[in-house]
Amino acid sequence: MVIFGGTGDLAMRKLLPALYYRHRDGELHEHGRIIGVAREEMRREDFLARVAENCSRFISTADFNEKTSESFATRIDYVRVDANQPADFERLAALMHDHADRVRVFYLSTAPSLFNIICVNLAHANLVTPASRVVLEKPLGRDLASAQLINEQVGAIFEERQIFRIDHYLGKETVQNLIALRFGNALFEPLWTRAWVRDVQITLAEQVGVEGRGEFYDGTGAARDMVQNHLLQLLCILAMEPPGSIDPDAVRDEKIKVLRALKPFTAQDILNKTVRGQYRAGAIEGKPVPGYLEEPGIAPNSRTETFVALKAEIETWRWADVPFYLRTGKRLAERLAEIVVNFRDVPHDIFGFGTTECNRLVIRLQPDEGVMLYLMAKAPGDEMRLRPVHLNLDFAETFKTRQWDAYERLLMDVIRGRLTLFMRRDELDEAWRWIEPILDAWESQQDRPKPYTAGSWGPAASSSLIGRAGFSWREDTDS
Ligand code: NAP
Repeated sequence: MVIFGGTGDLAMRKLLPALYYRHRDGELHEHGRIIGVAREEMRREDFLARVAENCSRFISTADFNEKTSESFATRIDYVRVDANQPADFERLAALMHDHADRVRVFYLSTAPSLFNIICVNLAHANLVTPASRVVLEKPLGRDLASAQLINEQVGAIFEERQIFRIDHYLGKETVQNLIALRFGNALFEPLWTRAWVRDVQITLAEQVGVEGRGEFYDGTGAARDMVQNHLLQLLCILAMEPPGSIDPDAVRDEKIKVLRALKPFTAQDILNKTVRGQYRAGAIEGKPVPGYLEEPGIAPNSRTETFVALKAEIETWRWADVPFYLRTGKRLAERLAEIVVNFRDVPHDIFGFGTTECNRLVIRLQPDEGVMLYLMAKAPGDEMRLRPVHLNLDFAETFKTRQWDAYERLLMDVIRGRLTLFMRRDELDEAWRWIEPILDAWESQQDRPKPYTAGSWGPAASSSLIGRAGFSWREDTDS
């Protein structure tokens, strides 16, 4: 595995610790090697020291030990390569030349502007073999045209079966449990339709701000950073028809049908069914934080959105008239990623208290992973009173094993050539096609994103968006 951007934040914080775990558990091939690549001049020992330091920082103390770290280090190498310099790739080739038959994974953990040149130079140095794979990190473009360009350029060197477009939300254990829940149990399928589902809410909320990446974020915004990829991918998994098998194309064919069935936004819809916000100064867990416009790297008067809420509709028999509310934002009240399926009310309240609450399935991805089913039960006592209770489907507790990080699973899928959890090119195109009119309209509108206070749940307009249907966001997440 060759990690371009091997000294970067993603490699040090996520990829190398994930590989450490897989090494520790004996999942990597005995001859498997990891080569970090970047422009910095550095000796192998110095790179190893940096990897060890970061692994010890990002791996829990119970799981990290010197002996494993030392044996992990024997797999690792570093080579200085400037992606723009074809001659530098000879150094990489020298490390790999005698292993043409082995699986080669080129993980592009760099800015997407380097994807093309890296692929071209890999091919030029004869490093791309039929058993090679390339992993592309987000952001894959900033609109349909730029995404198509990246795909064409990478596609000129690698076949589609060799391209792994990563969306780390799909590597989460709970997302796969959602697939298991839906298609491994007969119970939910009859309920999974407009007849029983009232509305769906998907929230990806962050407490952090732009975290030293102000310039990057200011040119991106929440819709491109989170909606076009993560939110839409989760929506697809939740809403797709049962695939014929778990094979990559069977699943991806069903996901793309959902994307194609998303109702396009008219100009009026963009006004009525989307909300964009931008945080101003506030407090996160009692600590004051600056507003977006005061963060380093942000253009004066920037109109970049740090919050998006929208109402998506899927035009199919299964989902007609069921609103899918999606929202994401920075500097929100909690760090939370969850999918909420609200079922319809009972058709008739025999108790006469008006106290029944709707049944609800909550699929929690962050901060902890789990699935909860909310039901009404009788409260103890002689009177017939109902109270909501939840069944906690705690998989970690049930299976008593450590849950894998999303990157551990996805890296192993790449190594084993399993494409099911990776986006196909046409999925990416469809997602851009749907979101682009919203981005264009926001760009041309003169008004600013709606302000919200850091530490809140976003602008009031977000509550009104869902409130118009008589619903509210599930915000009291402890209940
Ligand atoms: P980063 O910390 O800025 O690291 C960039 C890496 O690329 C460094 O190792 C850098 O090393 C290397 N690099 C830059 N120019 C190069 C060149 N011309 N040739 C070879 N190597 C070069 O970035 P990051 O946060 O790791 O993110 C990497 C990519 O993943 C970005 O596209 C980002 O959007 C995406 N991503 C990041 C995260 C995350 O959590 N960090 C999450 C999702 C996606 P040198 O400067 O020494 O060359």
